[in-house]
Amino acid sequence: MNGHPTREEDFDLYALGALEGDEKQAIESHVASCADCARKLAEARGRVAMISFAAPRVEPAPHVKELLLARVREEGRSAAPERAVAPREADSSSSGGVFGRWWTAVLAPVGVALAIATILLWNQNQRLNREMADLHAALVTQQKTLEEAHHAADLLAARDTIVVPLAPMPGMPKGMGRVTYNSDMGMLMYDGKVDPAPANKSYQLWLFPMKGDPINAGVFNPATDEISHWMMKMSPGVTPASFAITLEPAGGMPHPTGPKVLAGSVPVLKG
Ligand SMILES: [Zn+2]
Repeated sequence: MNGHPTREEDFDLYALGALEGDEKQAIESHVASCADCARKLAEARGRVAMISFAAPRVEPAPHVKELLLARVREEGRSAAPERAVAPREADSSSSGGVFGRWWTAVLAPVGVALAIATILLWNQNQRLNREMADLHAALVTQQKTLEEAHHAADLLAARDTIVVPLAPMPGMPKGMGRVTYNSDMGMLMYDGKVDPAPANKSYQLWLFPMKGDPINAGVFNPATDEISHWMMKMSPGVTPASFAITLEPAGGMPHPTGPKVLAGSVPVLKG
């Protein structure tokens, strides 16, 4: 076996001494060259050691074992429907599957039901943890989107927000952009579309203030036909003279060094 074991239960089954023949060898040869799986096996050994220590000295009723084994089989199927089929799955079906085989293996009957139940619960717990992590990530993303929508609405609604169109410079990649900026809020929003940057280059948006050095307002590398959009919190109270996108070494620079690709001046307001 070159790939990782397809079932997380396999580590526990191996640690329990329940795998035989090809399956046993496959795990042994794989963990010898896979640090990740070697760590999983060590964890499984730890669990099995704890289970053995805690195993009650009673023989569970046969129907309890059967019930738990049925649950484990069910779990294995529902947990890994989309995973790649390992070569051994083809031959295991003819001999009753991996569980069919290991059940007939030399497992001490005492504590077997507890071991199976613990594996079942542990795997359920792992799945729940992963689902929780996914849900949390989705929630964070939604909160960020909502927050940004609020900021954009505030920015667009503010009376002193300015909109500065950015026009292409001669001989530069084609495109157009727009900066929406509010000095009091220190909030900048960029929307635009420009041809992809040459290799090893990035675009960088700058705020050129009336006084002082240009201020970084975002580095980007758009794909073909990609519309770029971002919002950026900046130091409030800066009065801009113009905005420009320059071509910089990949990843951007602390100060503009390259030619302007798109640029636009702030219209002079007379009060
Ligand atoms: Zn592995």
